[in-house]
Amino acid sequence: MIFSWFWRRAAKHLGAPSLPRFCFCGKGGIARTFIGLVLTLAPLLVFAQSHFDGARAYEYARQFAAIGPRWPTGPGHVKAEEFLRAHFQRNRDQLEEDTFTADTPIGPVQLSNFIVRFPGRKPGAIVLGTHWETNYPLRTINFVGANDGASTTGLLLAIADRLRAQSAQSRDKKLDGYSVWLVFFDGEEAIRCLTCWSRSDSTYGSRHLAAKWGRDGTLNQIKAFLLADMIGDKDLDIQRETHSTPWLIDLVAQAAKKFGYQRYFFQQSMDIEDDHLPFVERGVPSIDIIDLNYGPNNSYHHTAQDTMDKISAHSLTIDGDVFMESIRLIDQR
Ligand SMILES: [Zn+2]
Repeated sequence: MIFSWFWRRAAKHLGAPSLPRFCFCGKGGIARTFIGLVLTLAPLLVFAQSHFDGARAYEYARQFAAIGPRWPTGPGHVKAEEFLRAHFQRNRDQLEEDTFTADTPIGPVQLSNFIVRFPGRKPGAIVLGTHWETNYPLRTINFVGANDGASTTGLLLAIADRLRAQSAQSRDKKLDGYSVWLVFFDGEEAIRCLTCWSRSDSTYGSRHLAAKWGRDGTLNQIKAFLLADMIGDKDLDIQRETHSTPWLIDLVAQAAKKFGYQRYFFQQSMDIEDDHLPFVERGVPSIDIIDLNYGPNNSYHHTAQDTMDKISAHSLTIDGDVFMESIRLIDQR
């Protein structure tokens, strides 16, 4: 994606809650300790159950990044496709592979969007998206895109687990609200060079799918499109993206507020070109949930430093909580 922004950062340190020490000493010490432990751990267990499993998303991201660079036409690109295909087939999900040939500066390139559908009882669909590939111009370095591509692929895989479990619990195997479609876009990054982003050399997968869904009428079913990009960052500060649909920005802010996550969301505004634009331009309510401020002076963005140690399960918990709550709020509209 491209952006125009002056980087300003405030250091944020995410501290882990500290547990009190327990003493097994004295009469009744063990019983008191046990009661103490139960009282202390109970709220943590409630927390663990009610919050999104960011550790799960992180583990998926780790496995996906471990494939290595995933640039179009490269061997890692094929392996990543195989990873996604095998994952959804193993889980018996409704998978559609949207494979097409993109006209790029290096000639025709075969790209694949992966679409996974979880049917709901309400007519209409909520689409969650990410891109999964890495940059072709970075093929000469070991760029694994832990944050840029892998983190949000992991996030959507963990969201799929939640949706699959929710569906399985109901008698008709459907979600309570709208259908939820997860889209893993290919070809988001520019091909010609790292700084060569243009509307014709970027967002190949989303431009292809938005056009296709425009032609066959699918776009009319979409109530909202939420795009996730680069939000595994340990130091999470998601910008208010100005091309995004205002009511959807407000709804996501409301979802964040429910968990007390306001400080991570929308403290600064930016206009960012990303996979949501082809949908915005066709009138689909859309939001780009993105943190384009990655590392000191953005030094991890599109560099070999974009590795798993720069992202966190905590940030993915925040993301997952907000995405799941946003789905609930859109269902209620
Ligand atoms: Zn990127």
